[in-house]
Amino acid sequence: MSQTSSAIWLRDPLALLGDAPGGVVVQDGRITELVPAGGAPSQPAAVFDASRHVVLPGLINTHHHFYQTLTRCFPAALDKPLFGWLQALYPVWARLTPDALDAAATVALAELLLSGCTTTTDHHYVFPAGLEDAIAIEAQAARRLGIRAVFTRGSMDLSQRDGGLPPDSVVQDADTILADSERLIDLLHDPAPHAMLQIALAPCSPFTVTTRLMRETAALAERRGVRLHTHLAETEDEAVFCQDRFGCSPLDYLDDCGWLRLGTWLAHGIHFSAPEIARLGRARVGVTHCPCSNQLLASGTCPVCAMEAAGVAVGLGVDGSASNDASNLIQEVRAAFLLQRGVNGIAAVSHRDALRWATEGSANCIGRPELGRIAVGAAADLALFSLEELRFSGVGDPIAAVVLGGAFRADRVMVAGRWVVEDGRIPGLDVGALIRRHRMAALELARD
Ligand code: ZN
Repeated sequence: MSQTSSAIWLRDPLALLGDAPGGVVVQDGRITELVPAGGAPSQPAAVFDASRHVVLPGLINTHHHFYQTLTRCFPAALDKPLFGWLQALYPVWARLTPDALDAAATVALAELLLSGCTTTTDHHYVFPAGLEDAIAIEAQAARRLGIRAVFTRGSMDLSQRDGGLPPDSVVQDADTILADSERLIDLLHDPAPHAMLQIALAPCSPFTVTTRLMRETAALAERRGVRLHTHLAETEDEAVFCQDRFGCSPLDYLDDCGWLRLGTWLAHGIHFSAPEIARLGRARVGVTHCPCSNQLLASGTCPVCAMEAAGVAVGLGVDGSASNDASNLIQEVRAAFLLQRGVNGIAAVSHRDALRWATEGSANCIGRPELGRIAVGAAADLALFSLEELRFSGVGDPIAAVVLGGAFRADRVMVAGRWVVEDGRIPGLDVGALIRRHRMAALELARD
């Protein structure tokens, strides 16, 4: 049953990314009216004075691993490429507990919200004994903080014993994974537009998952109408692995597994040839660009401009906090802007492109046209940045300032019409206590 809430007019913003210079009216979780310059709402509405705010559609994070906040800057994994980095961390992640995951998810979600993120995904693929309820733990944390979420049931069933990368201690068998995937769809997936919580299915990568699980997961996702997600074409090592094991490229392998279709989105998408990019566009597959992670692990650079030209939906993701060390999405927008402009040239990439990747582009990756836009009928998910900081003193264009000036923290964030960040804080969240709890969990995990 929905409760009717009173209308709020976010009045006369300093700037707004969209066509509403006089601000927007929100009611019942949606944007109900765009107000022209100098105009007023057609119906009575309470007023929120937005005159010191830059208003953006809420940012959408399309790739993350919350549990990795516990292993940020992990000494044994520093300065290693992806495969070595993973091998250093798998045994640590195998000790993950429900309490530690709850702390990790709360930290990641709080960081995301405070950076202007209103919808996030998480790719959780580590299920050691005792952590069978990992996705439910994440869902609870998301509900507590009021963020919209798409949790992907990740999986690994190919261990070292069978030629994969991870140790036996962190993999599950395919039947267990498939049954649990179906259970989670029944339990948590809301297929309706404007849903606060959805489930997608996400076998981890070609080097951690069997072909059988890839194929059966795709069939299950199609049957149940949920989306598919995986890591693909992240490194050259992965391309070598696919050539050795399957005799083809990662994309050919994905195609062979029945994944090249609308409803699939891939993390990273770096090492594709021009004909492969055209295939991705024809199949309407989405790709999450993770600029900080890709630079930190020196994995390569996602060909974002060529992908968009081919019709691929490109979104942004912070990726796991162990390969980024931050869960700050507005900082990721800046990183994407700088990296892609550096590679593609000034004419090809503007700050507005980077903001579009983090909003509309990300919404398209997860199949949520009601998100990532300021339009009548769209979700009332908004990120408001104040420019009253030293770093913005003297700026001209306020929207450019948020990206180029390095905005770090949103002043206010609204999800489904409800304020979840006020004055740069999450109401009711004791950040000091959370840091103490999370730090203890990280220390415990690091102990051999
Ligand atoms: Zn990842």
